[in-house]
Amino acid sequence: GKACYRIFEPALHQRTTRKLEVEKMELEVALSEALKHKEFILYYQPIFSLITSNLVGFEALVRWKHPEKGLIPPNKFISIAEETGLIIPLSEWILAEACHQMKAWQEQFENAASLRISVNVSGRQLKESNSIEKIDEILTATGLKGSNLKLEITESLLMENRESFRYFLKQMKHRGIELSIDDFGTGYSSLSYLHRLPFNTVKIDRSFITNIYSEENSINIVQAIITLAHQLSINVIAEGIETEQQFRILQGLGCEFGQGYLFAKPLDVEAAQGVLMAMVNSSIS
Ligand code: C2E
Ligand code: MG
Ligand code: MG
Ligand code: MG
Repeated sequence: GKACYRIFEPALHQRTTRKLEVEKMELEVALSEALKHKEFILYYQPIFSLITSNLVGFEALVRWKHPEKGLIPPNKFISIAEETGLIIPLSEWILAEACHQMKAWQEQFENAASLRISVNVSGRQLKESNSIEKIDEILTATGLKGSNLKLEITESLLMENRESFRYFLKQMKHRGIELSIDDFGTGYSSLSYLHRLPFNTVKIDRSFITNIYSEENSINIVQAIITLAHQLSINVIAEGIETEQQFRILQGLGCEFGQGYLFAKPLDVEAAQGVLMAMVNSSIS
């Protein structure tokens, strides 16, 4: 190029590729060991009504509690777990743990009866032929009602496999399990599936919320999503609310629900319990 040259060195390239492969393999092994040794834990991020300020539920978010490295966030291991198939047993554990915890809270706190626990669903999980039976088993084992559970499915997943999901989604609806489209706005946002599939909620991606008052486009997009969702009788939840201004704008636009650092970060079980205990005074407005 311009007064500059680079020498491509195949040996070096091979070495780095091999290094990455080794690292990946090590991670795969470590992940399956971690599952055996029960090193995964769930954090719970409170979700509030922006209209009444009441707590309406929690989103369960997985973390890997590594004995040496500490808490590892899901973006470091979910995709590898998907590739290796380890996501199947991991997701099963996550769902069972989240349902079990919600049920325990309901037994402990009278006014937790109508709260919902939201659980993220992976693509691989949906493709399993026995995913519906697995969910039934978990609900039966934990004693949680379907109406206390919500599944979050990313928009990109729907694009992948729209037809085969229809049956799954319908079955969930029969059980009173609510369905939410996660990270809405980041995929192709084909609006057609919004009314064809039985979704209760769209969750607007954090990237739009972050820029809601700095970029004119973002607020217009958010407003359009809310308007469209409401016309289809679908609720809207905003993720990643960090400032008072973002909260007020969303409230003004009629967005029903919200979660974000402004209200609470994802919390460990004890801290989430603290929120439940303070539920009566947990007003956010
Ligand atoms: P997500 O489902 O969109 O979850 C929301 C993410 O945004 C969480 O990150 C949460 O900690 C973060 N967040 C919430 N409020 C705020 C805020 O106000 N500001 C900022 N900057 N961030 C906020 P987390 O826990 O790291 O999870 C990342 C992603 O990993 C999740 O995105 C989800 O796609 C995936 N994930 C997490 N737990 C699970 C799980 O149990 N199963 C599967 N399949 N995926 C999971
Ligand atoms: Mg989610
Ligand atoms: Mg999300
Ligand atoms: Mg997101």
